Amino acid sequence: MERFKSWVAWRDEFSGNLAIFCSDERFAAATLEFLRRHLEIDRCDLMVVAGGPAFIPQNETALIERLELLLKAHEIKQVIIIAHDDCGYYKHHHKRLSPQMLKEKQRDDLLTALKAFQAKVIRARAFFAFVENGEVIFEEIKE
Ligand SMILES: [Zn+2]
Repeated sequence: MERFKSWVAWRDEFSGNLAIFCSDERFAAATLEFLRRHLEIDRCDLMVVAGGPAFIPQNETALIERLELLLKAHEIKQVIIIAHDDCGYYKHHHKRLSPQMLKEKQRDDLLTALKAFQAKVIRARAFFAFVENGEVIFEEIKE
């Protein structure tokens, strides 16, 4: 039977951090780096689903239920939500929107999600990731 032993030291505790972002592999590795190296979030729970935090403004019950569970069980105190440019989920769900309108929709959705966390007295920050000259950039989205 194949066995693998991780190099990562086991820590039986929760940091109270949660990051929610899209599963798109083109952005996933850069996003993990962004969390660690820029936001200095060493450890965090992850909710990685197509469309990232889009399920919050869309009120998708199944995912909202899991999120609520996480927030309670792991005593989440800080949430980072990230949307990204050229997101297949948004393109699929809003076929008639131009790329610029899609970006605006994503921005509105991030702000709606931020408000939802703020209403629960959970610290939240939102970012939009995009590619510039072949490099992935993260920009904070604020009201
Ligand atoms: Zn995506």
